[in-house]
Amino acid sequence: MSQSDAKNAASGVKIYFRLLGYIRSSWWMFLLSILGYLMYSAMEPALAALLKHIVDVVSSGTISENRILIPAAILGVFLFRGTGTFLGSYFMAKIANKVVYDLRTTMFDKLVALPSSYYNDMPSGRLLSKLTYDTEQVIGAVTSAVKTLLREGFTVIGLLGYMLYTNWKLSLLFLLIIPVIGFVVSYASKRFRKLSKNIQNAMGGVSDVASESIKGQEVVKIFGGFEYERQRFSKAADDNRRSQMKMELTKALNIPVVQFLVAIALAVLIWLALDPNLSAQMSAGDFVAFIGAAGMLSKPARQLTDVNSILQKGIAAAQSIFEFIDMTEEVDQGTKALPKAQGNIEWRDLSFQYPNTDRLALNGINLTVPAGKTLALVGRSGGGKSTMANLIPRLYDVTDGELLIDDHDIRQYPLRELRSQIALVNQNVVLFNGSIRDNIAYGYLRDASEQEVIEAAKAANAWEFIQELDQGLNTVVGENGVLLSGGQRQRIAIARAILKNAPILILDEATSALDTESERAIQQALDTLMKNRTTIAIAHRLSTIENADIIAVVDHGTIIESGSHAELLELNGAYAGLHQKQFSEE
Ligand code: ADP
Repeated sequence: MSQSDAKNAASGVKIYFRLLGYIRSSWWMFLLSILGYLMYSAMEPALAALLKHIVDVVSSGTISENRILIPAAILGVFLFRGTGTFLGSYFMAKIANKVVYDLRTTMFDKLVALPSSYYNDMPSGRLLSKLTYDTEQVIGAVTSAVKTLLREGFTVIGLLGYMLYTNWKLSLLFLLIIPVIGFVVSYASKRFRKLSKNIQNAMGGVSDVASESIKGQEVVKIFGGFEYERQRFSKAADDNRRSQMKMELTKALNIPVVQFLVAIALAVLIWLALDPNLSAQMSAGDFVAFIGAAGMLSKPARQLTDVNSILQKGIAAAQSIFEFIDMTEEVDQGTKALPKAQGNIEWRDLSFQYPNTDRLALNGINLTVPAGKTLALVGRSGGGKSTMANLIPRLYDVTDGELLIDDHDIRQYPLRELRSQIALVNQNVVLFNGSIRDNIAYGYLRDASEQEVIEAAKAANAWEFIQELDQGLNTVVGENGVLLSGGQRQRIAIARAILKNAPILILDEATSALDTESERAIQQALDTLMKNRTTIAIAHRLSTIENADIIAVVDHGTIIESGSHAELLELNGAYAGLHQKQFSEE
């Protein structure tokens, strides 16, 4: 074993024990399933013993009462064995499904506690497959390994015990040849498996060539590539045919070869057993039962040699799950209580760089919004407006400098309390597949009364269309609200923010999905909402933010101008330019 192998084995054992930790609470089920496998395994030597009895009875001619006894014993053995199989499989499955449940819920809890940057880096398909496929893979592999280990392990012990009891000398000789045969069998099956794996890798060609030709069919036609593609395809298809046949050949050879090896072992055993010195005291029944038990050994023994590779597969999947579970969560170490913020917000010498990027998205921002005032962020897209807003609920943590609410660095507050001070409406409205009511009264707002929900909907100018729906507030909106129009979705998001009634309000292009008329109507609602709250409004249409107390122009991660509408027009700089442009467009 090389050093890295040893390290892998050690971490494999660690993972295995960690996985075992998940079944600790189900220990009694585990005991029941062990009991079941013991019952099952005990019946294998019992069958051999029964065989001996039948042969002895027949050869000695003492049939009479045995005529009932033996069939009854057979039924008894299978009844007992069946009960064992049931207990073993049922409780093992129960444990396995509980572990899958535990792993999944742990992973989900982790998922929602991860920093936003994680979601940007990880394709959601991969995440979902971790949650669904990997968990099942782990449990499938581990249960099948444990099951084999227990059931087949006990069976091997039982059968060997029976053989030793019947004729220990012969058994010991047999035990000497078993390892040799076992080694050859496991070597052969490993070779076969490796062969078929290599072959499988050579299968992709056909679909690759075909899909290229399908996608590029216009080029193939116009440039006359038909003959070339045809040859390529026929070569790939032929390679595939050859590989397929090789695989069939190895498969077809595998079973007879392995069986023949087992037959060699049995043949040697019988040759030994027929030695008069060794089998002098054996009855005909002993003899048959002994050979029978040896034959019954081959299947469990072979399965036991596979256990390790199955286990390795499970451990690899478990490793990826545990890596996920061990990921660092959002930093949440603040202890300063924030029951109700006043709403002073200050960006102080603040710089920010998104994880895994090589340039600052915000650079040296200094800006203050007094409580209850409105700050409008304007400027070209990509300038950094949303980033400035997203730092407030700590979707990301600042790289340098500070962001303060009520004169304290926001990292001093517990995340939950900080976030409960903020309501957000942004351009990509997120709705969950539930009723309109559940979407307005979402999360912390779940306990809001019907009347409050209706008030909020009215204030958001959404009540009118909700009333017209057949089911009113109970209308189910479909996945991500597909059953509603863009403007309706946005009004629901606004109603949600109104209901939250938080001291800080972030409107990131909140009215962008609306036509001018609805925008005007909602603007009134928003104006009411903005009273007595600190509001950060990001808007493309400058007409909507003219009344803001402070307007800041953000460009390339810095604030290039700030002041009131009138002041900035007076200044005749970037804001005046933007204003002029939009004015002339409209
Ligand atoms: P604005 O809101 O002014 O249009 P943003 O704040 O969205 O601008 O973006 C500012 C800069 O940060 C842009 O250069 C953008 O490419 C980059 N950026 C935005 N979001 C991310 C992200 N999640 N990861 C990496 N870079 C980002």
